[in-house]
Amino acid sequence: MNSQLTAFVTLISTSGVFNLYLCIYVLNRRHLYPNIAKYFVLYTAATAVYCFGSAFGLMATSLEQMKLWTIVLYMGMPFSPPLGLLFNCRYLGIKVTKRRVAALLTIPSITLAMVATNDWHHLHYRVFEVDPVLGAPYVHLEIGAWYAVHGIFIFGCMFASFLLLLSRWKETAQSYRLQLVALMCGQLVPIVTAFAYLIGVTPPGIDPVPVVLWLSSILYVVSINSSRMFSIVPIAKDAIFNSMDNGVVVTDETNRLIEFNRQAESMFPRLDKSMFGMSIEQAWLELAGAPLPAEWETTAFVCEYPFASDPAKRIYQVRATSLRHANNRRGQLIIIADVTELKRLQDQLEHQAYYDELTRIYNRRAFFQKGEQALVAAKEASLPFALILFDIDHFKRVNDTYGHQTGDRLLKHVADVCSAELAEGMLFARYGGEEFAVALGGSTAEEGEALANRLRRRVEEQPLPLHTGERSIAVTVSVGVTEAAVGAGESLYQLLSEADQALYAAKGGGRNQVRVYSGK
Ligand code: GH3
Ligand code: MG
Ligand code: MG
Repeated sequence: MNSQLTAFVTLISTSGVFNLYLCIYVLNRRHLYPNIAKYFVLYTAATAVYCFGSAFGLMATSLEQMKLWTIVLYMGMPFSPPLGLLFNCRYLGIKVTKRRVAALLTIPSITLAMVATNDWHHLHYRVFEVDPVLGAPYVHLEIGAWYAVHGIFIFGCMFASFLLLLSRWKETAQSYRLQLVALMCGQLVPIVTAFAYLIGVTPPGIDPVPVVLWLSSILYVVSINSSRMFSIVPIAKDAIFNSMDNGVVVTDETNRLIEFNRQAESMFPRLDKSMFGMSIEQAWLELAGAPLPAEWETTAFVCEYPFASDPAKRIYQVRATSLRHANNRRGQLIIIADVTELKRLQDQLEHQAYYDELTRIYNRRAFFQKGEQALVAAKEASLPFALILFDIDHFKRVNDTYGHQTGDRLLKHVADVCSAELAEGMLFARYGGEEFAVALGGSTAEEGEALANRLRRRVEEQPLPLHTGERSIAVTVSVGVTEAAVGAGESLYQLLSEADQALYAAKGGGRNQVRVYSGK
């Protein structure tokens, strides 16, 4: 074999190897590129067959061998441009129907049949013989009618691909331009080379196209490794995707992670491209430190990150939307919104709505709402329900003597003293100006009375210390207690009125005492 042939065989084999590599690479990662994997794999496979057929053809020593390798070569070559066109269509989001696929693959199939049977009809090659001057493997060709059809068709496919890609140049984001260049070169390189062959610039007797195909293959390899080539996100949507306020994570139909935007990356610092292909359940566990709820696909949920006890934690609301990919497959779009501020505001408003600002215990509104619920729960469980209402004795005097501010301090003091005496979670509220109420689900009037007396004593025992000197303000409370009669269906409002009557009796009886409502 002369040195020119050796160089050609080497270059052609290189093209074949590159295409085979691309084919296997994408085949193994097809879940990452669900849109285009199929056609890209077929396209590179066809190109690899073309290259290897051509390389072996150049090592042929007889006409028979040359014919055989030409048939092998034709198993790839005529299919490569239409498959490339189909792949480019998918890449650009153009619909590819079965009918279109069949139409595009008809001529190549006929071509293959024509080449295989050429000796009988000579429709593809009118003459196919060993070059009389150069000898094997150089070929002397004269093309037949079908060759013209085939040639126009494959040129047409390559040209169509090239124009399609070019038409999308403007709307393609910068980060995808390299891919677009790689794809365009993939079409342009063979077009230009074949043209050069036609006008006699390249050595005669040898098809130069596979010799240069490694060039476009290299661009594919660079492109595929440098970016998420052929990812599901259509080109040009990149910018929008990454400038969203919400984090977005995309999964394919088997719920594997295939894409995420910058915001998602900043929300979960551990999120990176190495997670592509990982199941979303596993990825979520690694990212959020908690399992993905079973119903995540249909029900929005809240996720606290990094963990609930961290004061700097963020609160994310996560919801999934079913996504129909361009190839009609389904995936999920997981949208993560940072609701930390919203949640804080909501908590604050809720707190303001239910808590008394001065004493930090429940307010009247909360007492009615929660007291009503506790009363209903006690009724349903056939349990007793007691109510305590107390009022600070001679409070007005405190205001008058020490000022309103000290009056406020006394209110807070009484609330603190009583809170300390009450069990955690008990419903204790500032019912009015200097009136307080306790709801006791599950307690009888006697139990309520005992607790009321404890509260009364505690308040009496702990006067409010004054800032100035040793003096303190003695304080007492008068208390009314009542119990809901089982099965009587009394409302909380009625019970409060009963307790108020008992309280009134306690005031009348000399203050600093507890009275149980006795009107039943
Ligand atoms: P009694 O023993 O009969 O309860 O006498 P009293 O002085 O406590 O009488 P009353 O209940 O009528 O007076 C309540 C006073 O509490 C009237 C009001 O000025 C005062 N007050 C109500 N809310 C507040 C408050 O938030 N801060 C202060 N400092 N005073 C309040
Ligand atoms: Mg009072
Ligand atoms: Mg009062």
